Amino acid sequence: MRATLIDGKAIAESLREEVKQKVRERIDKGLPTPGLATVIVGENPASKVYVRMKHKACQEAGIISVGHELPKDATQDEVEDLVRKLNADPKIHGILVQLPLPAGLDEEHVLNTISLQKDVDGFHPINIGRLAQKGREPLFIPATPAGVMYLLEHSGTPLAGANAVVLGRSNIVGMPVSLLLVSANATVTICHSRTKDIPGIIREADVLVAAVGIPEYVRGDWIKPGAIVIDVGVNRVEDDTRKSGYRLVGDVNFDEAAEVAGAITPVPGGVGPMTIAMLLRNTLRAARLADGNHVE
Ligand code: NAP
Repeated sequence: MRATLIDGKAIAESLREEVKQKVRERIDKGLPTPGLATVIVGENPASKVYVRMKHKACQEAGIISVGHELPKDATQDEVEDLVRKLNADPKIHGILVQLPLPAGLDEEHVLNTISLQKDVDGFHPINIGRLAQKGREPLFIPATPAGVMYLLEHSGTPLAGANAVVLGRSNIVGMPVSLLLVSANATVTICHSRTKDIPGIIREADVLVAAVGIPEYVRGDWIKPGAIVIDVGVNRVEDDTRKSGYRLVGDVNFDEAAEVAGAITPVPGGVGPMTIAMLLRNTLRAARLADGNHVE
């Protein structure tokens, strides 16, 4: 393997430790303990697993977390009433509505109901809109895209003037990552399902962020030698040698890419752990905003 490994697990652990320390300092000073409320609507098993992981991480960081579950046939008004109640609760600094919502609910409208100052997932249309405007700052940046940027900064990747290629344009990963890279002065190309000659475009990339959800889609000979590769993909592939019957792989063929890239994130252990660490950081930030502090 030629590439340097970008160890998201270790980087996330040290960030979580830093958040824990700052939470403790707040409490020692008599400031309120940061509080996160999560809202799940329906019975999506993956959502339940993610939310459980978020609660566990909050507990470890000393952050209060309160879970709310609504049935899958909850109405738009019921979901929004709960969000409004949480907006008004001074013990709750961050509100996370776990996506996707069941069909029939207007996701954008629900996200729009979350108080901007409590939008720790960063998906409020105003926060996303600010991300897209030059010189405007969102109050919160969505956790996975923020994690991608943190890994790039942490690995010392120069972004100003770099050719960055983002594979995928979803609202939760591809598009916000692209906007953040533009803010960091990279020249960004966004690829999606209609893009022609993706291998040719990737061959020009100094920085590649892959978020397509296709196992090992990017091949080693597409990568420019020395490029920095951030693999957001988390895909299950069958593996009879594992007790579970599957293993997780990214959107990049790791073994091939690691022979060519300058640095690369593994899957698992790359972007994944950063997502939760960033949520904790955003929740701490929300508590500091509620104190009335200037937050840089
Ligand atoms: P998504 O909503 O399904 O979006 C996939 C994107 O990839 C779309 O923009 C789609 O293009 C594009 N695409 C699909 N097939 C393509 C192809 N053959 N060539 C080029 N582009 C193609 O997925 P997502 O939510 O962004 O997630 C992407 C991956 O990241 C998944 O593996 C997911 O599990 C993972 N993920 C990881 C984390 C984490 O914490 N590590 C968080 C979120 C997501 P169109 O827009 O044209 O359809």
